[in-house]
Parts: sequence; C-alpha cells; structure tokens
Amino acid sequence: MDLVSFHQNVLRLPAPWYVERVECFADAKRVDVWIKHRESRFRCPECMGEYAAHDHLPERTWRHLDTCGYQTFLHARLPRVKCAPDGKVTAWVPFATPQTSVTEEMECRCIMAMRECTMQGAESLAGVSVRKLERIRSLAVERGLGRREEQPLPGIGIDQKQVFARHKYFTVICDRKARSVYDVIDSRKTEAVSPRFEENKAFLHDVETAAMDMSAGHASVIGGCLPNAAVCFDKFHVVQIMNKAVDATRKEEQKSLPDARRKLMFGSRYCFLYARESLPAKYRDKFDEVAALATRTSRAWAIKEALRDALSLALPDFEPAFKKWHWWATHSRLEAVRKAAKTLKSHLHGIMNAVEYGVTNALAEGLNSKIEAIKRAACGYRSKSRFRIAILFHCGKLDLMPKLTT
Ligand SMILES: [Zn+2]
Repeated sequence: MDLVSFHQNVLRLPAPWYVERVECFADAKRVDVWIKHRESRFRCPECMGEYAAHDHLPERTWRHLDTCGYQTFLHARLPRVKCAPDGKVTAWVPFATPQTSVTEEMECRCIMAMRECTMQGAESLAGVSVRKLERIRSLAVERGLGRREEQPLPGIGIDQKQVFARHKYFTVICDRKARSVYDVIDSRKTEAVSPRFEENKAFLHDVETAAMDMSAGHASVIGGCLPNAAVCFDKFHVVQIMNKAVDATRKEEQKSLPDARRKLMFGSRYCFLYARESLPAKYRDKFDEVAALATRTSRAWAIKEALRDALSLALPDFEPAFKKWHWWATHSRLEAVRKAAKTLKSHLHGIMNAVEYGVTNALAEGLNSKIEAIKRAACGYRSKSRFRIAILFHCGKLDLMPKLTT
C-alpha cells in the first residue's frame, strides 16, 4: 500500500474529499497530507443549504493526530459557497472547524488532555501550544454553552468568589441539581448580575430555590427576575455571620485583657471558629484554656453553637428554637452578637426557606474548592475572562467535544 492509499484509509475522509498527495520527512518526523475534493455541492454552515463551490480560499494547514509518532499536518483549500441569506461563506467541511488550526479529532485529543492536567501538561501530551489550547478551550466552552439544553433548572446557588487581590470578585451561579457551574459573572455587583438574570428570565422561570449569601443583595434581583423562586439563606452563610460576630467579640475582649492574659489568647482565633464537633485535636487544650479566660468570647461561641443546633432542626421545631435563640443573643450584652441576631432576624424568611427545602451549602463549598484547585493549577490567572472559561470548562458539565463526522 502506498502512502496516499494508507492515509486515504486511516483518515476515513468522506466523499467528495480524498488524499491527493503525501510527503513524509523522516528527519523531521513529519508527514504532510494534501487533501482535495471532487466536483460536488457543499453546505453553508449557517443555513445548511447546499450549493456548488463558488470559489476557494488559499491553502490552510491543520494539525492532525500523529501517525506513528510523526507529526501529521493536513493541507487543503476550503471551498466557499454563495448563499442568498448568508452571502459568501466558507463551506462546512467534515474534518475541522474554520476557527481552529487543528482537525476535529485533534481537538478532541486536546480537550481530553486539558481535562486531565494543567495547560503545560496538555501542551506536552498533545504537542499543541498553550496559546492554541486556550483557543480550543474557549471554543469548546462556547460550543457547550450553545448546546446546553434548556432543561428546567429547579435550584440555583449564587456565590461570590474572590478571584484576584484588591477586591476583584466573580459571581458564580451554580445548578444545584446538576452539581455544576451554570454561569460565571465577572463582578459581584447587583448592577452586573441583574441584567444576566433579566436576559435568561424565560429560561430561569422554573427555578424554585435560590441559595445565596444574605449580604450580597442578590435577593432583590431574584425577587425581581424570578418571582417563583424561594430565596434561601443556607446554614453555611447564616453561621458565617455568627462566626464574624464571635471573632469581633474575641478581638475586643483580647484588647481589654491585662497583658499576661492577653498573651495567652494569641493564636486562639480558630479555636472559636470551628464547629464544636470538628475542632482539631491540636486546638482542644488551647480552647479549654482560652474559653476559661475569655468569658465574653466563650459566651458568643456558645450562642453560635446554639444557632447551629437550631439550624439542624426540621421547620416546625426550628421556628420556636430560633425565637429562643434570638432572645438569648439580643440579651447577651455582646454588641457584635446582638447585631448579628438582628441581621438574621430580618432575613428570617430566607433562613426558614432553606430549612424547609433542605438547602445546604455542600455544593457551593465543593465547587469553591474545585475552583481554587483550577486557580492553583494555573498558578493564578491574570485574565478574568480566561479564568471564567476555565471554570466553565472544568465545572460546567458541558458537552464540549466536536461531533466527529469522519
Ligand atoms: Zn446559508
């Protein structure tokens, strides 16, 4: 079998495409394959209408999967068709998308490599430069977002994520049922989040629960765009507010202690922030020591733990438990705790929704650590848009692969 027939066989090009000639450079470990087409009709990629070739573009080159360790390049002149609605456009071809310099099979290989390792790892595995890989990744995400079926979205989560120093935040919207990232908005401000919801209003109208942080002010956006969705302030975000109050109480108390006792308080911050049952062994002695010393802080801590207990109850028991807790917190003579109790009381409806629908923070937390891992793997991102694409690529559960036709 000669080289042309060999490549004709392995490339499995559908008619009217065929291999015209092949050149093999043993020293460079490279194979160049020129492909051509017979007289035929071609599809317009926009309307899929069939037309005769109008003219041809200059020759282009695509990187293909290696042949026996030889880098393989395909060369072809793509036909253009003239179609009434779309004008002169490059015809649809079965082996590559016009926006990339690799064939579809190579694109699949690159996507698989990028899924498994860092960009540098994928570069050495697939033999395609990071710059080209980034282009492939962004096209794959675009393709996946376009394909995402408009299935009902019963529950969403809205979370803020600090992506760069100096208060640069993303708002991450997740699909709670699919356990995936649904969208990433390049800001945490309500003015940026609101239009995105407004745009997808028709699509989001089935959302039943929206879990979020109560400080972000997204509740008003949900109220305006998704009138059927119950706003939920989940346990994680609720306890976070009380944790801040405990920490503020500790700082204040620490300042007021005499020097000798203040020194004993050093390094006690995390003792009070852990949940009772998950306090690591290394903090246990320290905790007992400082709890006896800082009575105001340990009272704040006990109030925080009581709130956690109340949050683990079912709805009918939660309401009276919260009332009791609220009375304790507001009569604790601890300013930070009193303030936190006031905030929680004013958001009680959303907290009760979370208890009723059993909305937890597990998903948001899981995705958060995944996003952190993506950031670490890339040694930080300098471009927000690239980071957004990476999050959707890894956490979006999108259908990313090109549909192979050869
Ligand atoms: Zn057309």
